Amino acid sequence: MAKKVSSNDDCCSFCDLPRSEVDAMFGGNEGAFVCDRCIEHGHKLLQETVGKRKPGVPEVRMEELLKPQEIKRFLDQWVIGQDAAKKFLSVAVYNHYKRLYHAQGKAPEVEIDKSNIIMIGPTGTGKTLLARTIARLLKVPFTIVDATTLTEAGYVGEDVEGILSRLYQAADYNLPLTERGIIFIDEIDKIARKGDNPSITRDVSGEGVQQALLKILEGAVVNVPPEGGRKHPEQKFVQVNTSDILFICGGAFDGVERKIAQRLNTNAVGYDRIGSRTMIDRDNLMQYVMPQDLKSFGLIPELVGRLPVLTYLEPLGREALRRILTEPRNAIVKQYVSLFALDGVELHFDDQALDYIVDKSIEFKLGARGLRSICEAIMMDAMFDMPSEGSPDGRSFTVTADYARQKIETSPYLRSVC
Ligand code: ADP
Repeated sequence: MAKKVSSNDDCCSFCDLPRSEVDAMFGGNEGAFVCDRCIEHGHKLLQETVGKRKPGVPEVRMEELLKPQEIKRFLDQWVIGQDAAKKFLSVAVYNHYKRLYHAQGKAPEVEIDKSNIIMIGPTGTGKTLLARTIARLLKVPFTIVDATTLTEAGYVGEDVEGILSRLYQAADYNLPLTERGIIFIDEIDKIARKGDNPSITRDVSGEGVQQALLKILEGAVVNVPPEGGRKHPEQKFVQVNTSDILFICGGAFDGVERKIAQRLNTNAVGYDRIGSRTMIDRDNLMQYVMPQDLKSFGLIPELVGRLPVLTYLEPLGREALRRILTEPRNAIVKQYVSLFALDGVELHFDDQALDYIVDKSIEFKLGARGLRSICEAIMMDAMFDMPSEGSPDGRSFTVTADYARQKIETSPYLRSVC
């Protein structure tokens, strides 16, 4: 039973501190008390240890798995175009689930290798969007990390193990769930080795990080600080087995086309002679990317080897940008329509206004990311005024090309973006 220092001063039954020395004290049966500090301490211990015992990981059942074509159909609802990448991703994810099924001891003895994925393509073409969308479908913990923030252990920056801390947190400290999550490593091209010769000085943010990543990509048991980083040196490590964690890497690989062209030119002579060479589409060389091009770009061969599924995303043309405005399930235009509907205003966009938005995004070289900034600039005044004043035409409001042009030409907001 808790001690009392004075009649008003109950003590915590765990640490004996009196009520006057803590921020909060909670009473229980028979005069037992617990203070806020002990609750916090207990919560931390739970986070560190209970995850290991949490049962809540559903069994993988083959009959319930979505087939690759169904996965692609789901992706089609959110992401425009990029059929090649969607196909590769759908198959890789389906195979990932088969591996998990296999790991339950229900399939033949042949061990199935991991199908980590690397997606290359210009920035703003949907790499992150694809990864996010697939995670939404799979209902597994998912985290995005930026490779540029990673450094080798011991250097300033984030240790590679920190990636796993983030996934562990995304899984709500549930270890078994963490061990089948998905990690998207963005900007993987930024940790490419600079130049072909290994440098004499240490390359702490390039090759060193690639080496560190290798370990977790290929499957290892890694000591992971639950809270990540070095801020909490006292925390207990959890051991995370990365064998069943799916890694999806993405990067723009600016300039890889040159490497592809070099390789194609070298090969072209031989192919031409036997007449089996089809015409090369010089405007979109990315589609011919092969693992050796990533090596020439500066990824170490071992890392390329751990990313067996290689796919590319196409640059988005005018038609794709136009579709992105209206077609995806959370298309930008649909979002504005719902925002205005909450104020009782029916919003419409003229076709010409949509064409204008696309033209501006191309003109400013902002790609799909720019569509949102341009729409924001156009809609800012209406979003500011209409909640108080209502729409000038009664209950509906139409964005015409003239209206859009006038807003863009006078927008200080867009000037700051471009
Ligand atoms: P990346 O990772 O390739 O640099 P993102 O996936 O982050 O590009 O794309 C940025 C934004 O542009 C997305 O949030 C989305 O709104 C839009 N976007 C890009 N590509 C597409 C696409 N293919 N379909 C639909 N929206 C897209």
